[in-house]
Parts: sequence; C-alpha cells; structure tokens
Amino acid sequence: MKIIDRLKEDKIHISFEVFPPKTDAGFEKVIAATDAMAKLNPAFISVTYGAGGGTSKNTAKIASHIKDDLGVVSLAHLTCASSTIEEVRDVIENLKENGIENILALRGDIPEGMPFPNGNRFRYAYELIEEIRKHGDFCIGAACYPEGHVENEHKAEDIRYLKQKVDSGVDFLTTQMFFDNDIHYNFLYRIREAGINVPVLPGIMPMTSEKQMKRSQELSGTVFPRRFLALLDRFGSSAAAMEQAGIAYATDQIIDLLSNGVNNIHIYTMNKPHVAAAIMNNLSEIIKA
Ligand SMILES: Cc1cc2nc3c(=O)[nH]c(=O)nc-3n(C[C@H](O)[C@H](O)[C@H](O)COP(=O)(O)OP(=O)(O)OC[C@H]3O[C@@H](n4cnc5c(N)ncnc54)[C@H](O)[C@@H]3O)c2cc1C
Repeated sequence: MKIIDRLKEDKIHISFEVFPPKTDAGFEKVIAATDAMAKLNPAFISVTYGAGGGTSKNTAKIASHIKDDLGVVSLAHLTCASSTIEEVRDVIENLKENGIENILALRGDIPEGMPFPNGNRFRYAYELIEEIRKHGDFCIGAACYPEGHVENEHKAEDIRYLKQKVDSGVDFLTTQMFFDNDIHYNFLYRIREAGINVPVLPGIMPMTSEKQMKRSQELSGTVFPRRFLALLDRFGSSAAAMEQAGIAYATDQIIDLLSNGVNNIHIYTMNKPHVAAAIMNNLSEIIKA
C-alpha cells in the first residue's frame, strides 16, 4: 500500500522508525524489533539508510520483511550523496524488484573530504526524486526541517528549495525532530504560504538519554527548550528516570499536535519497541477519540 493513500484516511496515523544494523550480526535484533513494533499497529514502519556498505543493503531486506512477513506498510529510506548515480539506480531497481512502493528520498550528508558537487552523484534530493520517478510508480516522501537545514542559514531560501523538491514529485514530507511544537506550527504556516501543500508528518524523538541529546544537537542544531533542559538536568543521571521522562515529554508533544489538528505523527523509535509501546499505551484512548 502507498503511504499517501493511507494518509488520506480521516483518522490518526502513528508511524515508527528502525535503523539497520551496522554489521550482519545485529540483523536478527532489528528484525525482532520490527516484529514487536508491528504488534502496536503502526500506520507504517520506516527503515533508515546508512551511508554505504552493509547497512544500506539491509534497508531493503528489513523493509521487505516488514511488508511481506508482518503485513505492515514499509518505507525504505534512500540517500544519494555517498553513491554514484549508477549505484543509486541499482538500489531503486532492487527496491522495485522487492515490491517496495514507498521511498523516503534523501540527499544524505556529504561524506567528509568529498568534493561537492561531484560529476557522477546527485547533488540534491530533488534530483534523486526525479530519478526515482523514472523507475516506476513509487510513493515518494522527503525530509524537511522546521528549524532550517544546518547547511543553510537562510530559512526563506531553505523553503524555496523545499518547494522545488516537492514540485519534483514528493507525495509527503517528514520533519526533522523538534522539541518545541510552536516551531512546527510556525514552519507549517510558512510552507503553506509558500504553496507547499503535501501532508507533513512531524517527526517526534523520545529523547531518552543525555548522550542522544548531545548527538542530535551536534548533527542537526536542534533547539532544546528550557522545559526539556530542566528535565534533563533533574533526571539525566538516571537512565531509567530519563527514559521515563523522555517518553512523557514525547507523549505530551504528540497530544498537543493531535489537539491542534495534526493527524499523522512519525515517532523516531530507534529500534526500541518498548519505547514505542509506552507511547502507544499513553495514547491508547486518545487515538480512538
Ligand atoms: C525525516 C528524515 C529522515 C532522514 N533519514 C536519513 C537516512 O535514512 N539516512 C541518512 O543518511 N540521513 C537521513 N536523514 C538526514 C539527511 O540525509 C540530511 O539532513 C542531509 O544533510 C539532507 O538531506 P535532504 O534530503 O534533506 O537534502 P536536500 O533537500 O537536497 O537539501 C540539502 C541542503 O541543500 C540545500 N538545497 C536544496 N536544493 C538546493 C538547490 N537546488 N540549490 C542549492 N541548495 C539546495 C537545502 O537548503 C539544504 O541545505 C534524514 C533526515 C530527515 C529529516
């Protein structure tokens, strides 16, 4: 099933995300995580794409397992910055052969030391999207950044490029994580004004450790509101307490989004089915209302 058809249903959709193992040894663990998440009845489960090597080939395998063995809609991420155009074409064909209908098309981070642009690589996600469209009738998602993408200081320009990306054939967008819903509401207002009208799935990250938070700050420059920092300050030294607080914070963000008319939420569940289960338990009556 195409995700865009699912999103058209007038109900709440909550989706999850897993990432492939770095080595083949971790494969069964990720499969077990998808099996446990499938029982929570998500709208779909997405599988991220590593920047090359073993993890990228596992994305298609895990996405196929979710779809074929668990009967859950799957979304395969695909990045292009660290692969040649020929390699990217092979991956798209492989996804097609595996019957995967949904792709989240991303540029990926530019590998350190690599000259950019490079003649035999796609430079931006919109070029990858144009290529995917040539290979078949896929439902294509793409990324967006309520706080702006880290490489681009100019928010208005970032939105202009986002419009170009959406116009190249995007069916829906998923946001980078954020911890202040007002940033998301403001972003939605600005992109709608810019003529971007596809569904936008807010990406909610249950932040369950200080280490995870520091890494997010480094990679994406995410702003953490005082309310979140106070919670980290008070509970950060206890892994169990921080996990519980992070789940409560994410739940609170989701309830606020749902109360404000957002029907589709993507949770960065990070191979942690117990975190997904705790949030779904917190929402058990809310998602029925
Ligand atoms: C929901 C989500 C899922 C992700 N999943 C993965 C994953 O699975 N694997 C992974 O490695 N990474 C993943 N990422 C990270 C992502 O790959 C990086 O953020 C990457 O740096 C940008 O990818 P993009 O597709 O948004 O790029 P683009 O949309 O191509 O944008 C990249 C930068 O280029 C600028 N730009 C765009 N078009 C133009 C243009 N025409 N001219 C000049 N500048 C332009 C933009 O403003 C932006 O600063 C994910 C991010 C999100 C939000």
